Amino acid sequence: MKVSDEILSLTPYAPGKPIEETRREYGLDKVYKLASNENLLGVSPRVKKALHDFIDEIHRYPDGSAYALRQSASKFYGVSTNKIGFGNGSDELISLLIRGFCEPSEKILISKGSFLLYKIFSQGSRVGATQVDLTSEYKIDFKEIMNVWDENHRLIFLPNPNNPTGTYLSSLELKGFLDFFKEKDVLIVLDEAYFEFVTANDYPNGVQLQSQYPNLVVLRTTSKDFGLAGLRLGVMFAEPEIVSVVERIRTPFNVNAFAQVAGIAAFSDPEFVIEARKLNSEGLKYFEKELTRLGVRYWPSQGNFIFFDSERDSDLVYQELLKRGVILRPLKPYGFQTQLRMSVGLQEENLAAITALEEVLKICPKVKS
Ligand SMILES: *Cc1c(COP(=O)(O)O)cnc(C)c1O
Repeated sequence: MKVSDEILSLTPYAPGKPIEETRREYGLDKVYKLASNENLLGVSPRVKKALHDFIDEIHRYPDGSAYALRQSASKFYGVSTNKIGFGNGSDELISLLIRGFCEPSEKILISKGSFLLYKIFSQGSRVGATQVDLTSEYKIDFKEIMNVWDENHRLIFLPNPNNPTGTYLSSLELKGFLDFFKEKDVLIVLDEAYFEFVTANDYPNGVQLQSQYPNLVVLRTTSKDFGLAGLRLGVMFAEPEIVSVVERIRTPFNVNAFAQVAGIAAFSDPEFVIEARKLNSEGLKYFEKELTRLGVRYWPSQGNFIFFDSERDSDLVYQELLKRGVILRPLKPYGFQTQLRMSVGLQEENLAAITALEEVLKICPKVKS
């Protein structure tokens, strides 16, 4: 059977290693997973109750139009219902946007050292990707993106803050960027997966900006800040004409019934997110203090994770941490040889991660940079 080269050369996305698998392979009782930027608080009790209450309905197909979820998202985000689209996670929305707006001869414009799924989905759709390096501070190089762009690039993906580096574009920077592209035939996809964790005062709110920029598409997800990673619910904000393209090509029941019910319950409990943000910001401060004590360079983060340079082979550090029951994310697939990403957990988890890291840094040799 003939399979195209693009598909055969595609490296599938490698998610964070599951806890159960690590327990099994290393014969460990206690495993701490700080590898996938999951919510440190788990999920709101309201979501759990809503899911329990819904159990007798799951033999029915979900509402393909997600009517009730749409109403509740509209209230929560302050956006009219026709400018909202839903996905089976925001990763599905990324894939649908590429399929909906790019021909195989066209390209997307992305950054190296950034979220991997943009590239993976484009390749899966036989769409090319131009990759721009991050700045020396590991920020998205928006000026270089402006330089490199031409009309063959139909979509520009801009994760803000960037995953895995945690760096962000300020309001001023983003507005300059959006103004530059405002009249051009390109969609700017602003991926705000960590929105509710951000604490910087000059961080822009893409959902508010969207009404001023018709070619701006904003993605949010309930996976990180609302803790619904296992249920898969992503939200998109864009002009109705753009939403309608995605509506045409999505599968009819892309958002399952549990995800719809959970989303409604999550949007009704904003206090949960406020608490998660507060604990996350304490966890980040703890990591910054401890990494400084260990002499490890890190980059200030606006997400629920921190990016640091171990100055050792990151796969080796990762393996040694696994033996000690701590799962972090090694970043070679993102092009970083010595850096890792550590999600913020509860204090017990954070302490376990730092304790293991301190041991591991002692036994792994430094590599020349
Ligand atoms: C986690 C993440 C996503 C994907 O989120 P899902 O909604 O779980 O698919 C998208 N973009 C970025 C930058 C992320 O870090």
